[in-house]
Amino acid sequence: MCGIAAVTGVPEAAKLVFLSLYALQHRGQEAAGIVAVDESSGESILHKGTGLVADAFDEESLERLVGSVSIGHLRYSTAGGAGLRNAQPLLVRYAEGDLGLAHNGNLTNAQELRDRLVAEGALFQTTIDSEVIVHLIARSRRLGVDAQIDDALSQLEGAFSVLITVGDTLYAARDRHGFRPLVLGHREGGYVIASETCALDIVGARYIRDLEPGEVVRIRNGELTRLPSLRDFAPPSPCIFELVYFARPDSHLWGYSVDRARRAFGRQLAIERPADADCVISVPDSANSAALGFAEQSGIPFELGLIRNHYVGRTFIEPSQAGRDFKVRMKYSPVREVLEGQRVVVVDDSLVRGTTSQGLVNLLREAGATEVHFRLASPPVRNPCYYGIDMPTRGELIAAEKSPDEICQKLGVDSLGYLSLEGMLNAADPEGGFCSACFSGEYPAPLVDLEKGYSLVGSD
Ligand code: 5GP
Ligand code: MG
Repeated sequence: MCGIAAVTGVPEAAKLVFLSLYALQHRGQEAAGIVAVDESSGESILHKGTGLVADAFDEESLERLVGSVSIGHLRYSTAGGAGLRNAQPLLVRYAEGDLGLAHNGNLTNAQELRDRLVAEGALFQTTIDSEVIVHLIARSRRLGVDAQIDDALSQLEGAFSVLITVGDTLYAARDRHGFRPLVLGHREGGYVIASETCALDIVGARYIRDLEPGEVVRIRNGELTRLPSLRDFAPPSPCIFELVYFARPDSHLWGYSVDRARRAFGRQLAIERPADADCVISVPDSANSAALGFAEQSGIPFELGLIRNHYVGRTFIEPSQAGRDFKVRMKYSPVREVLEGQRVVVVDDSLVRGTTSQGLVNLLREAGATEVHFRLASPPVRNPCYYGIDMPTRGELIAAEKSPDEICQKLGVDSLGYLSLEGMLNAADPEGGFCSACFSGEYPAPLVDLEKGYSLVGSD
């Protein structure tokens, strides 16, 4: 998964992109990058670095990113491989000018396309799926940049929200299923386009609308033009996991408030899987809104029973004497005063591998909880996501291997309850048409590479 942001028509656009990436940090912590287009010279400049936005940039690197058009990207490490080389935006010299590209989502036919392009002589510089888009644009035989971008994007299967600069022209598009979000905002004569509305808010941009599935827009000299939509209509299938886990609760995606959706999941969970308990606690921060919904519906008081340490980096040195559940202890601490002698409902947004949750249950017991009732504000995750969420193989998914009863035993909890698929979809929007492949196993976009025997090289 990744976060992307673009600003155009505003002086020092890169500085605003930097702020937008800050707000999108939850979508990727592996690496951050920004391309700025200096319209006076027509040249684009790229800076990228590993780690958080604040680590990847300093004042000096931001000062160098001059110009009123800019795009940025945050990378979440998955199968495409870590390292700076695979970080985005990509920047190449293209016949029509410098071309920058930032992509969120996973393509499901990238290997097939890559093999074809390599056979035709393309030289790839990275191992990420996104690079095929650049080659497809550069090699298109259609006339003009608009047509070449349309040609390239129309050949892609799977999930993409993309931002592309060609010289000082900005293009933005969503795949025809609309898996990943992309929102459009306005700010003082310019536009801001980003993965989530929280990235508009931080730069004072006013939300205009979401880009539609299959929509391609071009912004040049302050003028926004809707280009012809991508070919082959497909019913929209926005990713429900964005609402379950990925997006920030203050964001609005596809007309839904993430906070309201999560609260509705929590309320529905309390109806479907009630528990007799003294308090409701959340696994912070991702389950906070759902836990509030559960507490509201059940009438059981919400308590802050777990504290999350926000300063744990993605990699830390593990002392050899660290002991059991060290990684979980680094991230969460139980509040004994809340938990001791209490029957506790623990609400989490999702159960993926089960490793964190097992450690958490141990912490709660040690802090004196007499009963632990584990509740998940989404259904069992039984299937890998090929459209950009980090759920790579079935073997790693605890619910693919084990029944809820077995999981209950393995976690050592007094009861375990999942939200039903129907309950979740209805709570979000019965008409939403969401992709719920990780829960249901129904994949809306063809898994071309998988069917052709490639192992799916995901990326973002
Ligand atoms: P588990 O017990 O399955 O190891 O961890 C469950 C936790 O993982 C939940 O709190 C949930 O918020 C979080 N989670 C769900 N999906 C993802 C994901 O794609 N990436 C990361 N890093 N965490 C996730
Ligand atoms: Mg969580």
